[in-house]
Amino acid sequence: MSDAALTGMGAAALADALRAREVSTREVVDAHLDRIARHDGVDADGDVWHARPSEELGRDDVHAFLVVTAGSARAHADDIDRRRVAGEDLAPLAGVPLALKDVLTMRGVPTTCGSRMLEGWVPPYDATVTRRLREADVVVLGKTNMDEFAMGSSTENSAFGPTRNPWDLDRVPGGSSGGSAAAVAAGMAPLAIGTDTGGSIRQPAAFTGIVGAKPTYGAVSRHGLVAFASSLDQAGPFARDVTDTALLQMVLQGHDPHDATSDPMPRADLLATLRDGVAGLRIGVVEELESAGCEPGVRTVFLDAIATLERLGATIERVSLPHAPYGLPAYYLVAPAEASSNLARFDGVRYGLRVDAPSAEAMNAASRAAGFGPEVRRRIMIGTHALSSGYVDAYYLQAARVRTLIARDYASAFAHVDVLVSPTTPTVPFRLGERTDDPLAMYRSDVATVPASLAGIPALSVPAGTAEAEDGSGPLPVGLQIMAPLREDARNYRVAFALEQALGLDPDPGAHGGPRALPLARPQGGAG
Ligand code: GLN
Repeated sequence: MSDAALTGMGAAALADALRAREVSTREVVDAHLDRIARHDGVDADGDVWHARPSEELGRDDVHAFLVVTAGSARAHADDIDRRRVAGEDLAPLAGVPLALKDVLTMRGVPTTCGSRMLEGWVPPYDATVTRRLREADVVVLGKTNMDEFAMGSSTENSAFGPTRNPWDLDRVPGGSSGGSAAAVAAGMAPLAIGTDTGGSIRQPAAFTGIVGAKPTYGAVSRHGLVAFASSLDQAGPFARDVTDTALLQMVLQGHDPHDATSDPMPRADLLATLRDGVAGLRIGVVEELESAGCEPGVRTVFLDAIATLERLGATIERVSLPHAPYGLPAYYLVAPAEASSNLARFDGVRYGLRVDAPSAEAMNAASRAAGFGPEVRRRIMIGTHALSSGYVDAYYLQAARVRTLIARDYASAFAHVDVLVSPTTPTVPFRLGERTDDPLAMYRSDVATVPASLAGIPALSVPAGTAEAEDGSGPLPVGLQIMAPLREDARNYRVAFALEQALGLDPDPGAHGGPRALPLARPQGGAG
């Protein structure tokens, strides 16, 4: 099989080819490493490849990875191949490569969280997510770029320069898990891990034309996930199709005694009902999220997707979540409040960067001022203010009350419908730089994703079609968000699978013909 064919294949297909020994793990890993070397702007040299400094990156470099663990990926691949040849019974995804968001620890590999604050910090332990991947013999290719400490919606808040969207290299891939999403969309990895606090898996999935799922809060362990907002943070899967995404979530989920908020319930089987279809299912269209600032092109794709689901036999109802419009302001108080507390640990003493100064306080202040970028500083100030005596009741506690009301809205809605749907985000991917001077415009990207985060429910984004940007360029991807009751993640996958099969969309950014797209798999001998 040619390298191009291997990097265009999904995880399940690769796993089958590996099991049938049509290809070796080493070949699969090398094909993906080669694609990264050609398109990502890394110095592909030795066992550990580093991304070039942002000022040395070209307009065609995706910059999905901050570090590529080429040596350990190859060693893991060789080990898997040896064990396969020896007849060992391997896990379902054994040998499939994956990109890991740089907010999760991997022993011996730097974790930066997209921040100067952590530069040089090498964690001495694996996150539970990383450990589970290793136990499943999924091969980690490297750590991906992200908005600093997962705060942002475009990956432009990374201290190491933005990631570009493979559908249009002048546009953002979304955020904060933009590096992971772009890696999958660009064929640098068939699978990736992101984290979602208010939409950071779903929105980049929508922006890059792939599938991304935020599991039920507690389904996936947060041990080794550098905390942004602990009551919201949840790791989850990205892939180019629904089945691969479900397979990866199956690897990630499960109780972990290292995380007190980890769900002790048995792991959900996401595959058993995947092909059950949507006939007879009641699907609620969330009125408040359907209209919320949506571009006309996005709205059209959304309405067409609903019509498709109806044609497949689902009953479509309009449902109101009366408090959903307060989701954005509530989220942008709760999340910064928790962040201000969580990020207090970065004090110049324990992790990463230290700027020396005559007193301990001055050293703390100088280190934090040098280490944190503007958006992180803004969040710490907002959060500290929202929690301060005299304001905590008006801001933090009020937001916490709104959060409860939103959770109740969902509970009443789910008494009538099986799942809820909305556009994942109101627009197609915007241009690099378009929103960097306007934090509120950036926050509005999260209007449809934060309500599910506040309620802790599972939510997934599946490609629903393409639309032109308002300036007429495109086509660019549009995602449909599906939300289900707590622990009913399987329902989201079932609806997403039915839609995916009915629409038959091609996940290849090149198939849609934009002049600045990076095609998924180029024919051999093509302009590589
Ligand atoms: N864009 C949202 C924020 O900036 C969500 C981020 C996330 O889910 N990590 O907070």
